Amino acid sequence: MRALALDAVGGLEHLAVHELPRPELSTPHDVRVRVHAAALNRLDLFVADGLPGVALTFPHIVGADGAGIVDAVGSAVWQVRLGDRVMWNPGLSCGRCAECMAGEESLCGSFRVLGEHRSGSAADYLVLPAENLALVPPGMPWAEAAAFSLATLTAWRMLTTRSALQAGETVLIWGIGGGVSMAALQVAHLLGARAIVTSASDAKLEVARSRGAAETINHASADVVAEVRRLTGGLGADVVVDSIGEARWQQSLRALRRGGRLTVCGATTGPAVTLDLRRLFWRQWSLLGSTLGSRREYAEIVRLAHQGRLWPVVDQVVPFADGPAALGRLRRGEQLGKLVIEVAT
Ligand SMILES: [Zn+2]
Repeated sequence: MRALALDAVGGLEHLAVHELPRPELSTPHDVRVRVHAAALNRLDLFVADGLPGVALTFPHIVGADGAGIVDAVGSAVWQVRLGDRVMWNPGLSCGRCAECMAGEESLCGSFRVLGEHRSGSAADYLVLPAENLALVPPGMPWAEAAAFSLATLTAWRMLTTRSALQAGETVLIWGIGGGVSMAALQVAHLLGARAIVTSASDAKLEVARSRGAAETINHASADVVAEVRRLTGGLGADVVVDSIGEARWQQSLRALRRGGRLTVCGATTGPAVTLDLRRLFWRQWSLLGSTLGSRREYAEIVRLAHQGRLWPVVDQVVPFADGPAALGRLRRGEQLGKLVIEVAT
């Protein structure tokens, strides 16, 4: 089968289309999927660059997200049947520890992500546990189904379980255009919150406005903190969603109201920040980390997708061979929504 795989880490030049054996079921709980589309995430760039503490076996197939048709099922599988159209939760957990038993799978000590810690989805076939699969909503095209899971699940946990965002509250979302920020805008809108979004591109801000952003700020030309204060009667945002890290950390804090919550799911511009503890306690901020989500949260977003209330935004669909070039576009931040690789038609 074809697979978009790394033969080493250290950059996208190590990524190419390889011919690899089709994977076989390894447990009775496994399902093999004939992949129709695979979506790219910033995670794939981090994996290609090399992540500390993650040792890969090469060739390593990239990709966390995707959708396709069930092609083979293990003897213990009851969740899906041959021929079902499926997408999947890319988080893999042990299923036996206290956190898993409590339904907090992304806190599992052996939590793993498809395409990061094990071979991923950008290939003709993929084998994964049946419990990770969900049926694609009728009417959702392959590209949208492939683009749905990682970004939407991440945004959902950030804004619901972690930030407890309420109707009528204001949320600041940095860098609209990326998969998680676009999903966060949708989730905020769904919850009845008021979203203020930023981008360096006026074209992206215009699209964000048409998709429910109440206010937009061009962060290349405007003072984001002053604008957020002005738009909130001097108070600041109730919740800030940040995956940017170092470059915007101080502004994220200064844009936060007293008692506000800052939720972080990434550190694109760097992981090391400083914090004045006096401001933390005096302003009573909550600083929250968030990673993917639980099975319960995944079931919630799948239900909302089946109701048509959560629906991912696709930037481009590219042929299999153009996968590395599409990741280059992602690295340059040019996309508006998700980049998807067409695997089968
Ligand atoms: Zn576990």
